[in-house]
Amino acid sequence: MYRIGQGYDVHRLVEGRELWLCGEKIDFELGLLGHSDADVAIHALCDAILGALALGDIGKHFPDSDPRYKGIDSKKLLYHVCRLMREKGYELGNCDLTICAERPKLRPHIDTMRQTLAEVINTSVDNISVKATTTERLGFTGRMEGISAYAVALLRKS
Ligand code: MG
Repeated sequence: MYRIGQGYDVHRLVEGRELWLCGEKIDFELGLLGHSDADVAIHALCDAILGALALGDIGKHFPDSDPRYKGIDSKKLLYHVCRLMREKGYELGNCDLTICAERPKLRPHIDTMRQTLAEVINTSVDNISVKATTTERLGFTGRMEGISAYAVALLRKS
């Protein structure tokens, strides 16, 4: 009836890249490095959903050696993962994301992020939680070398 999954992802913060988090472009002097748009939060969410379905991970479905995924909008990856979920007969119950970033301040973006994810997943915004935290300047996120994200997702048989 129910299946649960968790996901975790990290991308490096560099100059000369756009910063995309939860499908939103955030105005900031650094961006995340990756083969796709490097939306670390969406990647963690995709892995949580794939994990709940025991369908492997995002790297298996969208290999970073595949030129089709170069620079791709991660919302498209999430959309595809949700299609797999529905093909398996499940729908999202709820999900909860935590983004670890020293800067920028993400609070002003949280509600738009939730709205964007809800639209891609085709679910109610009440089912989407996005939280942000710093790591008190500790570790690689604290030193602003990267941003990490955690996600859990509960799926329900539809
Ligand atoms: Mg990733």
